[in-house]
Amino acid sequence: MTRIFADPDAFVADALRGFARAHRDEVALVDGGVVRAVPLDPGKVAVLIGGGSGHYPAFAGYVGPGLAAGAVCGNIFTSPSTAQAMRVAHAADAGGGILFTYGRYAGDILHLGEAERRLRAEGIDARTVLITDDVASAPPEGLDERRGIAGIVCVFHVAGAAAERGDPIDEVERLATLANSRTRSHGVAFGGCTLPGADHPLFEVPEGQMSIGLGIHGEPGVRDVPLQSAPDLAVTLAAPLLAERPADAGRAAVILNGLGSVKYEELYVLFGYVVDHLEAQGIEVVDPECGEFVTSLDMAGISLTIMWLDDELEELWKAPASSPAFRKGHFAARSSGAQRTRGESATTSAARAAVVEATPASRAAATVARRLLRAARDTVAAHVEELGELDAVAGDGDHGIGMLRGLTAAVEASAGADEATGVRELLQAAGDAWSEVAGGTSGALWGAALAQLGASLGSPDEFTASDVADAVSAARARIAELGGADLGDKTMLDAVAPYAETLTDRVRAGADLRSALTDAAAAARAAAEATAPMTPRRGRARPLAERSIGHPDPGATSFALIADAVAAAAASEDPEEAE
Ligand code: ADP
Ligand code: MG
Repeated sequence: MTRIFADPDAFVADALRGFARAHRDEVALVDGGVVRAVPLDPGKVAVLIGGGSGHYPAFAGYVGPGLAAGAVCGNIFTSPSTAQAMRVAHAADAGGGILFTYGRYAGDILHLGEAERRLRAEGIDARTVLITDDVASAPPEGLDERRGIAGIVCVFHVAGAAAERGDPIDEVERLATLANSRTRSHGVAFGGCTLPGADHPLFEVPEGQMSIGLGIHGEPGVRDVPLQSAPDLAVTLAAPLLAERPADAGRAAVILNGLGSVKYEELYVLFGYVVDHLEAQGIEVVDPECGEFVTSLDMAGISLTIMWLDDELEELWKAPASSPAFRKGHFAARSSGAQRTRGESATTSAARAAVVEATPASRAAATVARRLLRAARDTVAAHVEELGELDAVAGDGDHGIGMLRGLTAAVEASAGADEATGVRELLQAAGDAWSEVAGGTSGALWGAALAQLGASLGSPDEFTASDVADAVSAARARIAELGGADLGDKTMLDAVAPYAETLTDRVRAGADLRSALTDAAAAARAAAEATAPMTPRRGRARPLAERSIGHPDPGATSFALIADAVAAAAASEDPEEAE
């Protein structure tokens, strides 16, 4: 339950503002996250971390010497946008290259991966090491498919300590990869967290039970079992970690992590038994940590992380670190540098779009697009709770909120564009605003789809129904390319593909655009419903695939709702606006 907030929509910005004030000698705010108050020495590698908020001390709390140079901070449980990552990267860059390292989640990969590509295009040596420590999220054969949980802290410190001692980017990348390959985590949940402004938790664990294999975005565990006493729980938590112990591993960094509302005393009770158990297996525990490292708002749960040390990793794990939330050892005194100020916010895409000349047909189409975007926003607003609940079944519960946030930004960007703006520029501005504000997987995909829709429509002297059908097909291809999903993976693509195909078929058969849109929407609705029995193979729902069976995919469902709203709004079209 979140009791303290001003405007729930400004929760993350307000929290970061207070955080930066509380630690003003250590961190400085950037639009999109925080960087160190004292800039890196020239030539050092900037380790950048990030992800959604709601996980404090991750991510802002780990900015400092021996850890990250900056943290990109998205909304609650929502990946930050590419634009945010670019601003943090530019503020943190010291000329030695940039290493992004973060837990493996689809939305973060889309947005931060795009930032990495753009930085490279600017000539900055940017790399990425994904963290995949959660044993419950995929079997050992699928190591690279696992998501990241509290083991991220091990990788952050190894990478940060290597960067601090002046290692070049190749080395920092190699060591972060090594640390990830030897780090494993396993957790259990006792109760779900409640998103700010919501009145009930994302999930509940039955009385007397615990849920094994939790995620850190409010995803419940993979299976429920009866509660265990502390010594048994220590064994349960450690078992899958010990099962993947490398043959050469005798020493281990150990982190017992509380997810948000387990008391420190309880953590310490368990920690004692964990160490007993590991030592009984002949493992030497090196510089262990017990406390809150990666939380999930007020979730009740714990996780155990082991990083199997070799000589290289042990040296780095024992190295000093100094950040608001994680300190060990001592650094030589440093001179304090100038405080940075918040970066100037980028000009909005809508403002840039206004200068482009558009044909009358393109301007008329822009007017229609504005109205369809409003219709889409209104229908998502009317279903926001339902979409959130669908996403909470096996994902993180943010789909309704994220879609509404993105669409609201898209509507604002389109309304803010000049009268002379054509449909191409308008949709590009709307798509950029959507992905910037919404974050998340769906934000990245919708943002790219709208921009593609605009680019394909272009600015001709006249639009035909088949131009529209072709543009929708191009947007569908963009979603498939960016997200990498196949049909049947239980994603929005399962509704988008039949929508695009029906639209094309009906238009080819000679139907007018309005009736073709109506038929396509009906196909999307049927296809979205048909995702219910499928097993998710992409996105956050995959680790909890079983739970999702019987419930339609949230992204496919919201797409079908929008398709219906667009068909209805197009049918009630004002003749003045006709294309
Ligand atoms: P997040 O998963 O980042 O929390 P949302 O909850 O807003 O983002 O969106 C979840 C939806 O995104 C899923 O229901 C699915 O339709 C869609 N999705 C997830 N991953 C992919 C992907 N790789 N390709 C296409 N769609 C995807
Ligand atoms: Mg989600």
